[in-house]
Amino acid sequence: MRTLFRLALGTGLAWSAAGAQTAPVHGVRPARLIIRNATVVDGNGTPAKGPFDIVVEGGTITQMIPLDAVAGRSAGSRRARADSNTAEIDATGKYVLPGLINAHAHLQDERGGTAQPIEYELKIWLASGITTVRDVGSPTTKALEWRDASAKGTLAAPRILVYPQFGRPTNADSARARVRSLKRQGVDGIKLLGIDRDIMQVMEEEAHKAGLRVAHHVGVEETNAWDDIHFGTTSIEHWYGIPDAAILDRVQGFPSYYNYNNETDRFRWAGHLWREADPKRLDTVLDSMVARHVAWVPTFDIYEASRDLQRAQTQPWFTDYLHPTLAEYFKPDPANHGSYFFGWSSTDETFWKENYKIWMNAVREFEQKGGLVGAGDDAGFIYQMYGFGLIRELELHQEAGFSPIKVIQHATGNNARILGKEDEIGRVRQGFKADLIVVNGNPLENLKVLYATGVDDVKNGQAVHTGGVEWTIKDGIPYNGPTLMREVKDIVAKARASRPTKADKTDRSDPR
Ligand SMILES: [Zn+2]
Repeated sequence: MRTLFRLALGTGLAWSAAGAQTAPVHGVRPARLIIRNATVVDGNGTPAKGPFDIVVEGGTITQMIPLDAVAGRSAGSRRARADSNTAEIDATGKYVLPGLINAHAHLQDERGGTAQPIEYELKIWLASGITTVRDVGSPTTKALEWRDASAKGTLAAPRILVYPQFGRPTNADSARARVRSLKRQGVDGIKLLGIDRDIMQVMEEEAHKAGLRVAHHVGVEETNAWDDIHFGTTSIEHWYGIPDAAILDRVQGFPSYYNYNNETDRFRWAGHLWREADPKRLDTVLDSMVARHVAWVPTFDIYEASRDLQRAQTQPWFTDYLHPTLAEYFKPDPANHGSYFFGWSSTDETFWKENYKIWMNAVREFEQKGGLVGAGDDAGFIYQMYGFGLIRELELHQEAGFSPIKVIQHATGNNARILGKEDEIGRVRQGFKADLIVVNGNPLENLKVLYATGVDDVKNGQAVHTGGVEWTIKDGIPYNGPTLMREVKDIVAKARASRPTKADKTDRSDPR
């Protein structure tokens, strides 16, 4: 059917004759950009439609010209006109989506104290179709600088929203002062991680007054989802706090030796958490989150090593694209957050597999009840790479039972709502920011086509390597996916070549 469509459209359309067709220049915003003949998957949970000519002027989508597939011959007169300042992308047979939004990201220019160039992460994000990230914990001053440079177009990066970690003020006054000082610094929101209930209450009051949104990574602590429901948290990150709020005895059945600060204990017993949630109580928790508009960004991908360590450790893109600093950080090491795989057993993985089933069902039910589900990858920890982690997250949303149309909505329109930017981004719509991706393949059939390394397929009996995001357009600036990945590969190759060998390291060690 698709082939017939394209054939019908291909006849009688001589749009390129109207002006010299010019390919976009990587990283340079053209005065006018036309994406021709695009099949569009919007970010609002509606099916694919098209084809369209999409016209971008400056940083804005200014026209969506529908090309009637049935009456293809007469559509020619309505095609967008190109002049000498127009760049054009032929999207025939390709899919155009809103740029993906990564709602749980960390800007990282080091891992475990070793430098890693920020461009490495930013380029993989762009190559993965990510045009916006919500940073939920990084060095705040640097993050604000990167945010502003990205906004000015001087740094090749997604849009950045900065939600600094709140820290742990010890009294109400200092909590209020901390909110006000963050507001003065110009942050976009605040990230909570481990907080006492009384401090959380005043902090949220102050944040609402200041117009700052709150993302909460609930720790194993005295607060749980009921506090988010009562105090008005914008989004619960990950999942902790939700099953906890549904445990009838109010505390998980930890073994006597459990110590939260021992990450092997912590992640091992987290794998037993969902089974302890009372299903009826969980239903009430989910209903209450929906009623009070608490969104949920589950980050399934970041715990996947706990249910399948070998899969996590052998991802194919590690070969050419895993930076040696990140590779080192991923290795089991009690000093690095998330590097807890000591004695990780088949029993641990089996508990985690069950944990995922209950968790995925809960996220699905939450959306069925009317809850707002977002998507983020939390990459840079636990074997998850930037960008690839978000695409894996989308696959896991599909595994949870969501259709790809809904999955794409999670990463676009829904995330835009979580960020409070639903009038600007997350849609392919006239008047919205020109944050668009041109995908080689149909993500509604296979979300894997979004991976920056592409997919293997067969065409006319021949093996072909295809897929990938061909163009990521952020704020009207086109970035070529394969070009970005070549640059990333180069960054990694150079870093590997200049990395001290093990022998060098031994030579320099403390002569104790
Ligand atoms: Zn995180």
